[in-house]
Amino acid sequence: MKTIGLLGGMSWESTLEYYRIINRRVQRLLGGLHSAEILLYSLDFHQIEILQRANEWQRLSVIMVQGARRLQDAGADFLVLATNTMHKLADDIESNLSIPLLHIADATAAEIRKQGLNRIGLLGTRFTMEEDFYRGRLTGRHDLEVMLPKQEDRDLIHGVIYGELCRGVVRGDSEREFYRIISELSRAGAQGIILGCTELSMLVKPAGYAIPLFDTTEIHARRAAESALETSD
Ligand code: GLU
Repeated sequence: MKTIGLLGGMSWESTLEYYRIINRRVQRLLGGLHSAEILLYSLDFHQIEILQRANEWQRLSVIMVQGARRLQDAGADFLVLATNTMHKLADDIESNLSIPLLHIADATAAEIRKQGLNRIGLLGTRFTMEEDFYRGRLTGRHDLEVMLPKQEDRDLIHGVIYGELCRGVVRGDSEREFYRIISELSRAGAQGIILGCTELSMLVKPAGYAIPLFDTTEIHARRAAESALETSD
């Protein structure tokens, strides 16, 4: 079994889910008392969020690369970055590592393609929804058509992620707003919705929706477990 290097703490609320999902998947696949071999490096999100807000991506890159290197040096076989947003720095991280990065957008796109969908709504932080590093990868590499909520709803989603979910707060009124936003995207033609922030599944439960929701935490963590069990030849 390969050792998973999990760079987390962004926020720790969702890193906890990664840990649970990865171990559950390995146990399902191998049975018995099997569990995953994981190295976890969990960062202090306070500092990360301040630098994001200040647009200090160069400084964030140094922190991410250092964290990833510590995991590599400790013996990780591949890296899992437990956040969508920080994949903005995926190229920097990859070019400074000798182990591979399991990209969250690639794992998610593969799942969407498996279901035969191509027009998809994207919910996440403002960085993830509005910048090219994520959307561009979905459209360019995976040939998906990406739909976004309107500006005021993007602001609302971003606010709920940082103001509530990353602090462990789950509110019924926010859940209702997400239901409205997802329903609007669906009416506008989205065939499915990417929960493109690793905390969103704390609030949005796929069972309550008529269209498929792609939970990036679940998809990425399962993929990590499956990759750990793949043989290299
Ligand atoms: N976990 C979130 C994501 O998946 C947001 C927190 C962060 O900025 O990393 O994008």
